[in-house]
Amino acid sequence: MTPDITIVGQGICGSLLSWALIQRGLSVRVYDTGSHLSATAAASGLLNPITGKRYVKSWMVDDLIPTAEKVYADLGQALSIQVYTPMPIYKLLGSIREQNDWSARTTDSTYQQYLSDTTLHKLNEDWLINDFGAFAIQGGGIVHTPSFLSRYREYLRDKGMLYEESLTQEEALQRKDRIIFCDGYRSAREGIFTTLPWQIVKGEYLLIRIKEFYDDRIVGGDTTISPAGQPGLWYAGATYQWHYETIAPTAQYRDEVIESLHQMLRVPFEVVHHGAGVRPSTRYRRPFLGFHPQHPHIGIFNGMGTKGMSLAPYWSERLAAHIADGTPLPDEVDVTRQLSVSTAP
Ligand SMILES: Cc1cc2nc3c(=O)[nH]c(=O)nc-3n(C[C@H](O)[C@H](O)[C@H](O)COP(=O)(O)OP(=O)(O)OC[C@H]3O[C@@H](n4cnc5c(N)ncnc54)[C@H](O)[C@@H]3O)c2cc1C
Repeated sequence: MTPDITIVGQGICGSLLSWALIQRGLSVRVYDTGSHLSATAAASGLLNPITGKRYVKSWMVDDLIPTAEKVYADLGQALSIQVYTPMPIYKLLGSIREQNDWSARTTDSTYQQYLSDTTLHKLNEDWLINDFGAFAIQGGGIVHTPSFLSRYREYLRDKGMLYEESLTQEEALQRKDRIIFCDGYRSAREGIFTTLPWQIVKGEYLLIRIKEFYDDRIVGGDTTISPAGQPGLWYAGATYQWHYETIAPTAQYRDEVIESLHQMLRVPFEVVHHGAGVRPSTRYRRPFLGFHPQHPHIGIFNGMGTKGMSLAPYWSERLAAHIADGTPLPDEVDVTRQLSVSTAP
């Protein structure tokens, strides 16, 4: 029997969209071979409400984080695993000026829920170089992406909703069922959505072994170090590469992450894995949702860029409501509108 919605891709977008549709009583079928490069599988899984050198709140973060916490908690309960762990993020400060910028930000009442800890922390100096101290960000955490992806895949398989096959846009155009592409950076490369304003960014990361280090916090400095879900193992990275010749890991960027680690760590570390992924980022840092104006049975849920873990829970709910009840999508994310404008005479 034809399902209500076919989804192509089981990264964070395809997983959460299928979940949101199932919760609304719709039937779904998810295509994913499990063998393509997945940005979600390469991600450290961080949700970080305050980003950048000026310590600003991420777009819509006050709405995104509560939705993400709820969606991941519901999924954790249904799958009997911990999908998300709230965790403070300690940012190492590099100068007096950075201390002053952070201190000024703490006086802004709209940042209260993320920067209520106004202590200038000293982290363990045997482990880390932190001459100017560190400050703590609340409200973030880690999605355990490897265990979530594999457990959710089993869930779909058990329910007969997983098709371990590839489905291309060319094939989808020949079909009549409603198909939503959640295929990550591939939609930027080929097919009917390539004219959207993409800005693809490759990232490389390392898994490192350290004898003793923080397993209760994320530490951000020259690079970011976060617990990797196994005792003694941490994730380090990732890099940002706008121009690249291969999607495979490269020695150059392995060395870049190692150099950043040397700028932060006093303890020795051993590299146990070097990986890469491609972020489906967009020029205006807004995701892409909705159906193609000329091919209205084909849709997209994509463009999460560097923030898939915080954006996908909220926007999967919005897209599912659009599909199930016809709730309109905001113009700034709606591809039906964007592609109609870009193809208008
Ligand atoms: C190194 C790195 C670190 C990152 N760290 C973070 C982080 O800490 N926090 C954060 O929020 N974000 C992070 N990101 C960004 C985040 O990973 C992405 O925003 C997000 O994972 C994108 O998810 P997606 O589902 O759109 O794409 P993907 O995860 O790439 O999933 C696409 C899926 O589609 C499947 N597929 C493709 N083509 C087909 C086809 N023809 N038929 C069937 N299946 C197909 C693929 O197999 C894949 O499983 C990071 C990204 C990288 C690369």
